[in-house]
This record gives sequence, structure tokens and C-alpha cells, in this order.
Amino acid sequence: LNAVEAEWVFATSNSHKLAEAQAIVGERLRLVGLPTGAPSAAEPYDTLYANALAKAAFYASWLGRPVLAEDSGLFVPALEGRPGVQSARYGGPARLLEALQGCAHRQAYFVAVLVAYWGAERYRFFVGYLPGQITHSLRGTEGFGYDPVFCPEGHTETLAELGEAWKVRYSHRARAFQQLLAESG
Ligand code: IMP
Repeated sequence: LNAVEAEWVFATSNSHKLAEAQAIVGERLRLVGLPTGAPSAAEPYDTLYANALAKAAFYASWLGRPVLAEDSGLFVPALEGRPGVQSARYGGPARLLEALQGCAHRQAYFVAVLVAYWGAERYRFFVGYLPGQITHSLRGTEGFGYDPVFCPEGHTETLAELGEAWKVRYSHRARAFQQLLAESG
């Protein structure tokens, strides 16, 4: 990244995502959330890339400054990729377990697409991926969203059991932000 920003607006109204992102970048970048009362941006597209970019463009123009935006989701091949881009609107972990009842193919992966956006002619994508398995029941209390039903590859605990300290190092979001940090010098 040519221009290193010391402080970024992370354009999310999800307080879990903001806290996680700040823990990931530590002292190296300061992240600020959207001001309260910020309008919500449309996410009408069918890819994480298009939605992240649309969100970034919307808030950069609304705030008049560069922003970071992120779109993420959980993809389950046995469900043809659902909940995927619709993860936030799908109905959560209970609905996912129901959809997979009796199904032995429980592979899944999280993807986070982060975009650093200065303007329509200048933006960079950073992508993080986390493969794993969907459990048969909800386990654990930390984190948010689908954390209680997802065991990352190589682990028998869910993300909600492994907890924030694990996610801050190894999650899809961590991997995307680590790449941003690596390029921020
Ligand atoms: P977005 O705000 O449209 O990016 O919504 C992403 C949705 O994907 C969230 O609301 C969660 O349902 C799900 N999701 C993304 N990242 C995670 C994670 O780290 N843990 C659990 N669920 C996640």
C-alpha cells in the first residue's frame, strides 16, 4: 500500500467484527467504527467481493475519507454453498444444523474479503480462508454468528470454545487483516 494509514475507519456496524479486527491488528493500526446513526449500506450482490466493494464505496463517499470494509460468510458445499453471501440473513447456527440433519458431508469454510478503499480507481482486496467442519450441536459461548457450530480443521473444539484468542490469530478475518498489515510496512 503506497499511502499507509495509521487510522482506518472499519465500515462495519457489527461490534463483534470491530472488536475482533482491533484485537487482530493490535497497536499497529487504529480502527474506528462507523458513527452511531450511520445509514446501512446495501449488500445486493452475489459475491463477497462485490458486496465488500459496494459497502466500501458507499461509506467512503458518505464519510469523505478512505475506509476498510469487509464481507464474510460461511460456505457449506453440501448445501450448494449456503449460507454463503447470505450468512447474516440465513437464520443462524440453529437453522444450519437443521439443514444438515442426517448429512454426513459437513465440510465448510469461512471466507473474509477485506477491501482497503481510497476511491473507485484505488482499492485493494485481502482474502482470508478458514476450512473446517460443521458440528452436530451448538458448543461454546465465545464469539458470534456460526462460531458455536464450526470446528476449524485440526481441532475438535468449535470456534466458540477455542475463543477469541484463537480467532485473533487464525480466523479468516485474522488472515485477511494480517495481509493488510504485511503490506502496511
Ligand atoms: P456480513 O456482515 O454481511 O459480512 O455478515 C457476515 C455473516 O457471516 C455474519 O453475520 C455471521 O453470520 C457470519 N460470519 C462471518 N464471520 C464469522 C465468524 O468469524 N464467526 C461466525 N460467523 C461469522
